[in-house]
Amino acid sequence: MTERELESLGIWRIPVPIPFVQAGGPVNVYLIEEEDGGLALFDSGLGSAEARAALAEGFRRLGRSPADLRRIVISHGHVDHYGNAQNLVEEAGHPVAVHAHAADVGKVASHGQRWRDKMGHYGAYLVRLGVPPEVLMQLAGELGGGYDMARRVNEVHAIAEGARLRFRRFEAEVLHMPGHTSGLICLWVASHGLLLAADHLLERVSPNPIIELGPEGEEGFFRPLVSYLSSIARTRELPVQLVLPGHGPPFSGHARVIDALLGFYGKRQERIRELLAGGPRTAYEVTVGLFPRTRPGDLFLTISESIANLEVMEGRGELLREAEPEPYRFRLAA
Ligand SMILES: [Zn+2]
Ligand SMILES: [Zn+2]
Repeated sequence: MTERELESLGIWRIPVPIPFVQAGGPVNVYLIEEEDGGLALFDSGLGSAEARAALAEGFRRLGRSPADLRRIVISHGHVDHYGNAQNLVEEAGHPVAVHAHAADVGKVASHGQRWRDKMGHYGAYLVRLGVPPEVLMQLAGELGGGYDMARRVNEVHAIAEGARLRFRRFEAEVLHMPGHTSGLICLWVASHGLLLAADHLLERVSPNPIIELGPEGEEGFFRPLVSYLSSIARTRELPVQLVLPGHGPPFSGHARVIDALLGFYGKRQERIRELLAGGPRTAYEVTVGLFPRTRPGDLFLTISESIANLEVMEGRGELLREAEPEPYRFRLAA
């Protein structure tokens, strides 16, 4: 199916620029025609001036405006996906409902916790993962920026797995696919084999599993890669004709992309086994072994990747965690 054919189904893709390179290029905002001729949005793009201009230009090219908006569905609580939603609600000049999965509502809504409220919990957890104090200081200096590009949304309604959304030319089912975040949702258009996948499945970038503690800093609240692997197994079984991803152009061959990802994680775990063959290691030591040239600013992403893989291997009984004394040390099971 081409993008022209998508348009005949009432789906338009507007790529919106973002300033971070790791994400895999501009973020896609999808416009979907509503039954009354208005528009739904799947994701909003960032709230930066550049992103807002690109979206406004996209609307203009289609002869549309934010006044046509009826509802905004947010795939997950990352700034590039929800950051412009509140601006659009205000520009519409009439009520527009914003939906996100319950597990990500707190990341999208203005009543949710901010990074500064949670930093203490994350810092303590990184110490348990073996991050040395001086590295932690450097990291704290680099994190937490970028929030001027996104506004939280005043009112967010929770949307659940299995919900059916009726649009002009098709019905879509909400699929909860935890992994990239705990509340990520995809829209599945079974009648046409279309999967609006957001960051759950990208053609060229693995969807980084990121450390996510519970609301009170609880550990084990969410094991991103453990969840992701079961979500992606579910996705592989769907009769998908075309993936409409959160970044990059639509692509087919979802099983091929998923198998390549599984191979990628398999290799990473093989490398972790090699590192642990030399004796017990902290998650930080594993991270330095996997990513020897990592910059302090990237440490949160790289250590997230390490601990996520360690959790998967721990869950399979391949390795054991020595929890005391802190920091945690992982060793191969006999
Ligand atoms: Zn994301
Ligand atoms: Zn994204």
